[in-house]
Amino acid sequence: MKLVVAFLASVSLATVPAAAFAAPPAAQVDTVDPSLPTQLPRTAIPHHYALTVTPHADRLTFDARVAIELDVIKPTRELVLNAADLKFTSALLTRAKAKGSVTARVSFDPAAQTATLTFQRALAPGAYRLDIAYSGKINTQANGLFALDYKNKEGKGARSLFTQFEAADARRFIPSWDEPDYKAQFDLTAVVPANSMAVSNMPAAASRNIGGGLKEVRFQTTPIMSSYLLFFADGDFGRITKPVGDREVGIVMTRGNEGKAQFALDAEAEILPYYNDYFGTPYPLPKLDNVGGPGQSQFFGAMENWGAIFTFEYAILNDPAITSEAQRQTIFDDEAHEMAHQWFGDLVTMAWWDDIWLNEGFASWMQSKATQHFHPDWGADIDRVSEREAAMGLDALNSTHPVVQQVRTVEQMNQAFDTIAYEKGESVIAMLEDFASPDVWRDGIRRYIAAHAYQNTRTNDLWTAVEGAGARGLTRIARDFTLQPGIPLIRVGSAQCVNGATAVTLTQGKFTADHSLASPLSWHVPVKASAGGAIVQTVTGGEATQLTVPGCGPLLVNAGQRGYYRTLYTPQQAQALAARLPQLGPVDQFGLISDSLALSLAGYQPMQPALDFLDAVPPTGNAKVTNGVVVRWDQLYDRLDADPAAQSAIATRIEHAYGPRLMQLGFAPRAGEPAVDALLRPTLIDALGKYRDPRVLAEAARLFAAWRTDPNAIPGSLKATWLGVIARNADAATWEFIHQRAQAAKGSAERSSLYGLLGRAHDEALGRRALELALTDEPGKTVSAAIITSVAAEHPRLAIDFVLSHLTQVNQLIDISGRSSFMQRLAEGGRDAALIPVLEDYAKANLAESDRKPVQQEIDRIRAQSSQLPRIQSETAAWLKAHPLG
Ligand SMILES: [Zn+2]
Repeated sequence: MKLVVAFLASVSLATVPAAAFAAPPAAQVDTVDPSLPTQLPRTAIPHHYALTVTPHADRLTFDARVAIELDVIKPTRELVLNAADLKFTSALLTRAKAKGSVTARVSFDPAAQTATLTFQRALAPGAYRLDIAYSGKINTQANGLFALDYKNKEGKGARSLFTQFEAADARRFIPSWDEPDYKAQFDLTAVVPANSMAVSNMPAAASRNIGGGLKEVRFQTTPIMSSYLLFFADGDFGRITKPVGDREVGIVMTRGNEGKAQFALDAEAEILPYYNDYFGTPYPLPKLDNVGGPGQSQFFGAMENWGAIFTFEYAILNDPAITSEAQRQTIFDDEAHEMAHQWFGDLVTMAWWDDIWLNEGFASWMQSKATQHFHPDWGADIDRVSEREAAMGLDALNSTHPVVQQVRTVEQMNQAFDTIAYEKGESVIAMLEDFASPDVWRDGIRRYIAAHAYQNTRTNDLWTAVEGAGARGLTRIARDFTLQPGIPLIRVGSAQCVNGATAVTLTQGKFTADHSLASPLSWHVPVKASAGGAIVQTVTGGEATQLTVPGCGPLLVNAGQRGYYRTLYTPQQAQALAARLPQLGPVDQFGLISDSLALSLAGYQPMQPALDFLDAVPPTGNAKVTNGVVVRWDQLYDRLDADPAAQSAIATRIEHAYGPRLMQLGFAPRAGEPAVDALLRPTLIDALGKYRDPRVLAEAARLFAAWRTDPNAIPGSLKATWLGVIARNADAATWEFIHQRAQAAKGSAERSSLYGLLGRAHDEALGRRALELALTDEPGKTVSAAIITSVAAEHPRLAIDFVLSHLTQVNQLIDISGRSSFMQRLAEGGRDAALIPVLEDYAKANLAESDRKPVQQEIDRIRAQSSQLPRIQSETAAWLKAHPLG
């Protein structure tokens, strides 16, 4: 899954695909690992589901019947399986090779999301078929089978159906053993309108008209797989395809958008052979579709259903009229992420949600690797530093958790998809790949995939495979970073230059957001360092490690920035590095700046070294680093909102340093310019627009005036950026005009974007209007919640108070899987300690004690930040005074 806001087989599947789809075991064997904290009693193992579903899109209901081939593995009077919001009309059990069936008494436990079938007599172990006829709901948020409404090419209202099952929503579509370790095969048949296109994991095996304007589409049998990967969609779709070897890749989208899907299709066709090679096992299904859906979710942007990825349209369609360069790159990134899951997640699946990071950390890492491979000019290596920093932002709090988590409730499953699983997972893998060497790491991945194809794994299986491939010593490092929470802090002692080499002592501690006394954890940390000569690697353990590095230049620790730790230099070392910063590579420049700022904000050092680093970056340097530096300054600007003089000094500084860069780039995109320049331009427009730079405001006003008469007056790739400047500074008349344009917008992505802009106004009264608009039917089922999050970024308290007073209504606007984390999203922009009791009361009143972690994390963040704020303010103000603009 991609959150909002996204690799030696001995058998060639091309020659024996049917056999490789793993026949069910012949004997009644408990294939589910008994040490897993699964929730269903282990009395039966399903092998095959034959499902026929008839959706009634107009009534938002469906009818279905399923035949489940299963083995009862111990005598029992009860079969317990997952079902949520389903009504059974009959349940019939038949013993294999026996005559006659028995009916079951059915009871539901809505809290546990289970159905219990009770039989008159105990069932003997053996093979059975369970037939259930049932009906269910079509949801209007992305859970189970859901509907997305939109305007079609002809401007008429249309409705398409899709499914979204991860983590625990297959049970809203099919009564099933809906846990990842119960892998089975699926035969799906759908009864749908004769003129629509139905899509599933596998290609259609047969389709026939059955009268009444309907057809019956039967899909080929899937490989053995987890229930959360099953997919079905039906609608007025177009589909474009390309052959890749003997497989077919395709993009499915709302009809009329075929041209906008070409970029995604090309990416898919490019990535598939690369992954076939990297994983060593060719992609096993006959086709791989990526299915675009109009709308959005507060929980996810794309989902890796096997053979039929789902992606919201904004992240799959490349529309020159509205798609920014950042979004265009996201199309490639998301594709690379979801395609990595086809192996890591789909072919080999974590046994239980405790190990969800195996899916998400790995796919995030592979996505960056593929992007760096195909588009080295996009700076994915520098983005990795941002991802490390995002992970550390959460991992520095007391309420963080280890990468391998403890997941025991459905809410915890949903909450497990967080920055630790994705970004820390990615950062730790990047560090381990670097430690193992890329070739050894890849060989380990090939062994892992080959050994566990069509099966389930736990984290240790990955370490065993990579150590087996030759990465000696990897497991103890990997275990330290995945089983313990938190961030190592490496303190660098004073350096001695001896015989042309730098000798230094590294001391290990733990980094926390508020410099609190941390629990005594220790890690085996692979540390790379250079002092102007060759890079040296050592693994620190225990408290102090001696390190000798050739050369006597400024000492750089974490050279290449792959390490997941913070580095605290002595003031002299930091000063020497700042002086040499322009000569360092872009990744190290950005890594040092980010690391130093985090240490200063948390109180490990004064603000001065961090501000010196920020100041040392040449404003004309690498565009991606410049981008990052402007973002860091802007984060500091936001923290100083109680000190207008300091804010104004930062704004002036950024305008002075980076205004000329923007003038040089120009206000409009230039044909053939580097992608990183196309990314830097909107960052600069946005920041300078926020600081009310007169040049930017004048251009925004000019473009807005032109847009009033011509909707195409603003270049498509900068539309959201320029309108964002206008929306932030909007008065009531301007706001109302954007509102009218949102109402009139045809495409779903443009419509969502314009409605989202209505939440960005700095004027609080307009923020309130946007919130009220979100509760009306006008924006549409999946757009409203995005307006609320947009208001929260600018006015967190206003949005939170509003949501608290309309909680029942707001919950209807969010996917079930995103509800318990929605408050975390709203609070992300908050810095005021007065929010803490509000969040505490909300959690107590609305969330079970086991499910409060996301809210607790925001509380911890606000507490840590506000405890350091007075010091940050005074030290920053002093630094700004001491460093007037030259
Ligand atoms: Zn994912």
